[in-house]
Amino acid sequence: MYRTHTCGELRFADCGKEVTLAGWVQRVRDKGSLVWIDLRDRYGITQLFLDGNSDPKLIEQARSFGREFVIQAKGIVIERESKNPNMPTGDIELKVNAFTLLNGSKVPPFTIEDVSDGGDDLRMKYRYLDIRRNPVRKNLELRHRMAMLVRNYLSNLNFLEIETPMLIKSTPEGARDFVVPSRMNPGEFYALPQSPQQYKQLLMVAGMDRYFQIVRCFRDEDLRADRQPEFTQIDCEMSFVEQEDVLNTFEGLAKHLFKEMKGLEFGQFPRMTWHDAMKYYGSDKPDIRFGMKFVELNDVVKGKGFGLFDNADLVVGINAEGCSEYTRKQLDSLTEFVKRPQVGAGGMVYIKYNTDGTFKSSVDKFYTPEDLKVIADKFGAKPGDLMLILCGEAMKTRVQLNALRLEMGNQLGLRKPDEYAPLWVIDFPLLEWDEETQRYYAMHHPFTAPKPEDEALLDDPSKWGDIRANAYDIVMNGVEVGGGSIRIHDRTLQNKMFHTLGFNDEKAQEQFGFLMGAFEYGAPPHAGLAFGFDRLCSLFGGADSIRDFIAFPKNNAGRDVMSGSPAPIAQEQLDELQIALNLK
Ligand code: ASP
Repeated sequence: MYRTHTCGELRFADCGKEVTLAGWVQRVRDKGSLVWIDLRDRYGITQLFLDGNSDPKLIEQARSFGREFVIQAKGIVIERESKNPNMPTGDIELKVNAFTLLNGSKVPPFTIEDVSDGGDDLRMKYRYLDIRRNPVRKNLELRHRMAMLVRNYLSNLNFLEIETPMLIKSTPEGARDFVVPSRMNPGEFYALPQSPQQYKQLLMVAGMDRYFQIVRCFRDEDLRADRQPEFTQIDCEMSFVEQEDVLNTFEGLAKHLFKEMKGLEFGQFPRMTWHDAMKYYGSDKPDIRFGMKFVELNDVVKGKGFGLFDNADLVVGINAEGCSEYTRKQLDSLTEFVKRPQVGAGGMVYIKYNTDGTFKSSVDKFYTPEDLKVIADKFGAKPGDLMLILCGEAMKTRVQLNALRLEMGNQLGLRKPDEYAPLWVIDFPLLEWDEETQRYYAMHHPFTAPKPEDEALLDDPSKWGDIRANAYDIVMNGVEVGGGSIRIHDRTLQNKMFHTLGFNDEKAQEQFGFLMGAFEYGAPPHAGLAFGFDRLCSLFGGADSIRDFIAFPKNNAGRDVMSGSPAPIAQEQLDELQIALNLK
């Protein structure tokens, strides 16, 4: 037997027991005749102890152990002289009477401590050492707990976890596919799934009624910060349901996770239409932990001779309460912020509502104090507040103001990491215009159903942009953690949708024929949703990056620096696949 206990297990009550532990040497402290070793495994750290009464050979042996050596220690549990209340095993230590060296170790390239001296790249290269550190290990434990809670919750609601294929057919909608050449079918390729969307719908046609899967998905997108080319979804689908049923089911799951993981209870999650989310927050995933809702000002700012506002499609602002004392420097830096290329505003107008009731603004030339009071009233501003205003083309300006709102939220400490504000965003547009290709794309995916009351608009191309979908996202703290939709289960409507997206019959048949074929054999009404599992974990773990919750993540360039992938393959492999490279 390698061990009788783990390194996190022994307590005061175990004193006097003879035990065997095994683990990694965290640290050796040598004070002459006294030697301590911190022995670590996944469960904790136990202090090993040797003193003047110990066999000198043992002391010699202990001194030879380097960091991360794997050893076995046999001994008697004794009460510690100076206890450590910060450690679960802090009341005891192990008086060693035998060591076995199980394996040596090179000196690790960084310290295996909660706060390591290793940079990001180095820790990723030696991720197996990084995972030995508490914070990383704890994140993986959290991920496991979340997965178990999800499985149990959904299983109790009669959902079946069913695996769907990883090698599937490439479809042109959505993001770019990762493709896999087929040796046995030269010139043909599989794609890795961006999501099991079509398969889960087929499972509904197959009568499985309720499906879920904690499943890896792949998207060959340009990597933005905190995107991974492979990521995990909690993918779900249900039959004979309406939107209300879906929202309630998965709100239930989210509440269950909050309760079990955080001890938090919630009433009904608020709901907001996509239209309102854009109008009042400039984002389809508003962070509603704080206010600062947008106030539109066209009717109170135009016609006073300020050309920028007069010519703008939309003048819109936020009121930062209690910020009238912002200095010139602070205001300049906010202007700098909105002018950054990532935000892209031309400039920013401010109005200070001073505590003495007077106004000071960057547009005093054009607006009298009375005019400014009217604007302040529109904001519902009080003395002591600071109004920040942007203008320009409506949607662009909203998106820019969203960036400013979030920045103000950060600066004012209003985005508290331990506060959670879940929200459903509903009634997304069905279609989204793409300037580049001059056509509409499905905002969610081509199987998403329009709202029945908007269905007739499909016959009028000039109205396509106005059609609302039965599609919903679940948002938490400004992060989209999941989304889904009611599906089209009617063949005629689905055909219409394909035509709207610019597919002729032949192309639709080629791309989606197997799903369409299945829909002719009694497809039940169905709907679903998928949560981004990595993101959900990072949210519950109170961390910003999803990478922290993935055992072996890719870096920002999509590389696995540990294994060195992606990498070229041998000419023989290419020959076997009958693939000739044409690198530019
Ligand atoms: N397959 C969708 C997605 O990956 C989710 C869904 O509609 O169920 O976003």
